[in-house]
Amino acid sequence: MKINLANIKKAQKLLNKRECIAIPTETVYGLAGNAYSDIACKKIFKIKKRPKNNPLIIHYYNQKNLLKDCNLNDNFMKLYKNLCPGPITFILDLKKRSKISRIATNKKKTLAVRFPKHPVTRQLLKRLNFPLAAPSANPSSRISAVCSTDIIDDFGKKIKFILEGGKSKIGVESTIIDVREKPKILRLGGLEISKIEKILKKKIIISNNPSKISAPGQLRVHYSPGLPIRLNVRNSKNDEAYLLIKKRKKNKSNFYFLSKKGDLVEAAKNLYSVLREIRKSKYKSIAVEQIPNKGLGKTINDRLIRASKF
Ligand code: AMP
Ligand code: MG
Repeated sequence: MKINLANIKKAQKLLNKRECIAIPTETVYGLAGNAYSDIACKKIFKIKKRPKNNPLIIHYYNQKNLLKDCNLNDNFMKLYKNLCPGPITFILDLKKRSKISRIATNKKKTLAVRFPKHPVTRQLLKRLNFPLAAPSANPSSRISAVCSTDIIDDFGKKIKFILEGGKSKIGVESTIIDVREKPKILRLGGLEISKIEKILKKKIIISNNPSKISAPGQLRVHYSPGLPIRLNVRNSKNDEAYLLIKKRKKNKSNFYFLSKKGDLVEAAKNLYSVLREIRKSKYKSIAVEQIPNKGLGKTINDRLIRASKF
């Protein structure tokens, strides 16, 4: 996509004034503010109605800029060299003299950091003299935004400026990995775990896999399209939307497919936009066929399981 420098400069100006704006990333759109400013970070929580105890991911241009705020280690360096910029978020120890807002971290001694790949946001980050705190640009507990119209649908004029960047290429949030000691995945996301395992040459534990949680009450509702969802459904009812992993030869009017041929990367990319399309339709509930639990299918299942607790 063509980069519009005037828009990037406008974004920079607003961020310098501690305003919040929406920014494109390869995963989903973010609601960004100066991560060193309490005022900017408070605005992010307020606009999203995000609980104060849910800390924000901080976005950097490169590893050099991160040195001021975090202690780095070998695992981080290996993954950074091979996968960044990209859809991976690292949990690291925060340095004592870091200026990151304590509103952003909820006073935690660790920091979630990421290096987004989208060329527009990379240009913006390069021009700023602070990193960006940026959770996903959606009301708390709802599905993320993958294009600017999603943000307008969700927030109207509440967000001062949307930096246009087209449709997000990956379409689901970043994979979060705690790399402080024995690496472990805290959130499944747009980067397949097998890629991380290949680089670190070991099996990685997943410590937040909702499919392993048996009591429904343990699950936090998240990624909700605002409609009830039934999972692993073989035959849908006619009055519910039926979400399919691939297009069928005989499509009924209530069928919505995530990819033409069942490709899981394509399906992850389309997940949120198809759920939003269903929300705008006449259907008041969603049935989902079984999605293969491998590669990005694991991330799709993670989001659908959480969404089904609505
Ligand atoms: P979002 O940006 O809205 O997609 O969500 C960011 C995710 O990062 C949330 O699940 C947070 O709980 C998680 N997160 C942020 N900071 C930390 C941290 N220091 N330790 C563990 N998880 C974190
Ligand atoms: Mg989010």
